[in-house]
Amino acid sequence: MSKFFSERFSSLTPYIPGEQPRERKYIKLNTNESPFPPSTAVIEAIANEAEFLNLYSDPTLKELREALAATYGVEPGNVIATNGSDEALNFITMAYADKGFAFPDITYGFYPVFCTLNRVNYREIPLKEDFSVDIEAFVNAPENVIIANPNAPTGINLPLTEIERIVSANPERVAVIDEAYVDFGGESAVKLIEKYPNLIVVGTFSKSRSLAGGRLGFAIAAKELISDLDAIRFSTNPYNVNRLTLKAGAAALADAEYYKNNAAVIAANREYTAEKLKYMGFEVLPSKANFLFIRSDKIAGGELYRRLKERGVLVRHFTKPRIADYNRVTIGSKAEMEAFLTETEEILNEIR
Ligand SMILES: *Cc1c(COP(=O)(O)O)cnc(C)c1O
Repeated sequence: MSKFFSERFSSLTPYIPGEQPRERKYIKLNTNESPFPPSTAVIEAIANEAEFLNLYSDPTLKELREALAATYGVEPGNVIATNGSDEALNFITMAYADKGFAFPDITYGFYPVFCTLNRVNYREIPLKEDFSVDIEAFVNAPENVIIANPNAPTGINLPLTEIERIVSANPERVAVIDEAYVDFGGESAVKLIEKYPNLIVVGTFSKSRSLAGGRLGFAIAAKELISDLDAIRFSTNPYNVNRLTLKAGAAALADAEYYKNNAAVIAANREYTAEKLKYMGFEVLPSKANFLFIRSDKIAGGELYRRLKERGVLVRHFTKPRIADYNRVTIGSKAEMEAFLTETEEILNEIR
């Protein structure tokens, strides 16, 4: 840090993204990207828009808002689009700073980072022994709450009835449901926004819609909440979503069938991989996401991560004590999963 860096950021520990190595070609199962390219309609939409890059993007986000509203059965005023869902989460921690936030101890690592960045208090509520969310603790939390559903990196999904219990328990706080992985087998809480003026559902195009590199996220909520977030957006960057990505997003929504089929393939590959891993003796948490969270008595989490990397397979290993013995494995194509399973089996044979 330079001597000029503001004192207010002295306790900031930046988020550490998964490795994006360029030095060799890996089978990349570490950042929950889709193995499928964007649809051809999306690629065409981007190409057709390129000649207009001399002009700013639409600060009202009109076309994409309308497309999202039609997809999710809400009105355009219930929707905001953001530069990745990370930006929506950043805006949310700014907009609802006063009550602070509560979220699980094991969840998306960006929540505490945004709170620290924006000088917002937060409290981590431990997941239960089996890594499920402690519903009662969230029902009773006085803070705003953030729940990733399905959760990451566990993959565990809460039924909508449990989400509704948390949302309805306290109308004086906002409840944020981060649905980054909902398309792989969860049930969306969007249908509850009409009933609950304190509910914000956050979504992303990075996982099931193959647009991680396009940076597109969104939030769906009551119109009053969306106007709060728009106030923050217009005070930060009115052109927060670039022209190419606005077009790509609308085209992706129009091509729903392609993405639905891809998500179904991923879910099938997930079940296949989970079965094989259990047969090899792994503990595999029940996942409704595009990844599995796994551990084995036969090999430490960090050791498996390192040995897989040597063999050209990247998975995600977290060092947080409670989960240091686990690895998070993104579900890729069938061929990628076969390669991962083969390498894993060979590693287990080697150390036996
Ligand atoms: C991947 C992920 C996001 C962020 O995705 P963006 O690429 O910023 O849209 C948000 N929440 C969770 C839980 C995630 O795993």
